[in-house]
Amino acid sequence: MQRQSCDAIIIGAGLGGLLSAAQLLQRGKRVLILERLPHCGGRFTAKTFQGTQISTGAVHMLPFGSSGVLSHTLQRLHIPHRIFDADVFGSFHIRGKQIRSRGILGVLKVLGPREFFRLAYVGYFLFCTSLSATELAQPFDTWLAHTIDVQRNPKLVAFFASISRFTLSLELHQVTTGEVMRTVKHMFRFGAPGILEGGCGALTGELERRVLAQGAELRLRYDVQQLLHENGQITGVRVRNKASGEEELLLAPLVVSDIGPRATNALLNNQQVKQAEVLKQQSAERVSQHTQQPEAIGLKVHILSDVSLIPHKGILYCLDTQRIAGMVQPTNSDPRLAPAGKHLLISHQVIQSENIEEEKALALADLRTLFGENFERHCRVLTMSAYRGEWPVNRLAQGTDVEATTPLQGLYLVGDAVKPAGYLMVEGVAQSVNQFLDLLDAVEQGQAEGSLGAPRIRQTHNVISPPSRLNALRWLWEAPGNS
Ligand code: FAD
Repeated sequence: MQRQSCDAIIIGAGLGGLLSAAQLLQRGKRVLILERLPHCGGRFTAKTFQGTQISTGAVHMLPFGSSGVLSHTLQRLHIPHRIFDADVFGSFHIRGKQIRSRGILGVLKVLGPREFFRLAYVGYFLFCTSLSATELAQPFDTWLAHTIDVQRNPKLVAFFASISRFTLSLELHQVTTGEVMRTVKHMFRFGAPGILEGGCGALTGELERRVLAQGAELRLRYDVQQLLHENGQITGVRVRNKASGEEELLLAPLVVSDIGPRATNALLNNQQVKQAEVLKQQSAERVSQHTQQPEAIGLKVHILSDVSLIPHKGILYCLDTQRIAGMVQPTNSDPRLAPAGKHLLISHQVIQSENIEEEKALALADLRTLFGENFERHCRVLTMSAYRGEWPVNRLAQGTDVEATTPLQGLYLVGDAVKPAGYLMVEGVAQSVNQFLDLLDAVEQGQAEGSLGAPRIRQTHNVISPPSRLNALRWLWEAPGNS
């Protein structure tokens, strides 16, 4: 078997893998990236279908927009990008109407005075008081039921549920009060969500060009089959070239895994995780109610419309639907994501049953409820895809993420199962890479405390801190954006 060595091996060319590669190249390391698919980007890229940018995962949106962690990280790396921040707090579909809310105060029109007062009351407890450790660990729906009369505030409960389903792909009982509190604080302090110019494919494409220009070796259609280690130290990987079937040993003292803890652990045991097996096991666990859903799962619909159905650059939250939690119309920010004169809409929902065909039928029924005649006359469904198993919305549900370190020296995890608390989606992926860099710097400078496999660091240089709390006040009247 052939052998080759380098300074660092990255497993997976998703956003987390590409960001890690770009950062390590900046530190002068020789980097080798291994990706099993024929393209980079993982769940953060797109394919052109009928002239439209159909994403492999994300809805082309960055949760904290141009002021967020990913945008700051890209600025540090001098990666050109442009983000169109939302111009509203959101719009809300309720009682058959879409109501636009420029800032938080606009939610008064959605909830009415009594339930809006309850929202302020909940906000006061979450942000202005210290909740006990027990309260922070409670599922959010349980805490809410202790704080307000949920029967008398159905719109407010639907408001929280639709935001949680769209942004976290979780029901309110699947997320803790502490994680809701931290996530919302970050959303308010960083800024409004934003759509990427060119969509997610443009960003990961730019990252790919950058890492190649800086000398990284990128091998597509290479499947990592095993992690190699000796005396507690990672030594490399065994890979299989999917085109030729040939196997090779690739050696490095540093391996960064962007494929999540389940698949990484399997590789440590010389096994591979298969999508069909994961789905079968999860289905059995759900039927026997054995475990909580470990990851966030969802269903996404791409729709092409002749007419505009969402009149802003932000999120439409759906409070009166059966499944669809929210939608965006990214062509309001970048019209080139769809053919000239057409509008791209993307809906997202949490998968609530084993029956994917039924979930799709409910999505279609919701689209008719939301847009009535306009949906029948002007819209065409391009794709409907379920995201679960090894290709989920989040590999671990928000707030249950794992540490970047592993029991092996030199093996680190990045990506959407390693998000620090309160950092959602790709903001969390970018922060996971920054967190890994802090650990690596500390180890390399000999400043790490504790064991080398699980070092503790004294100072963070790479992790991006949230801006001032006062930033949150900007949301009262209108969404803080750049447009
Ligand atoms: P991945 O993108 O999964 O990358 C991992 C890569 O590793 C993949 O390319 C995979 O092929 C490769 N790989 C796996 N195993 C191996 C192996 N053995 N050998 C070699 N390669 C391997 N985030 C947002 O910020 N905004 C959104 O609007 C948004 N919407 C979303 C909507 C949906 C429906 C989904 C599914 C996700 C959404 N997300 C969104 C989440 C976002 O897409 C992910 O957080 C992010 O793309 C994860 O990146 P990653 O690098 O951690 O993992």
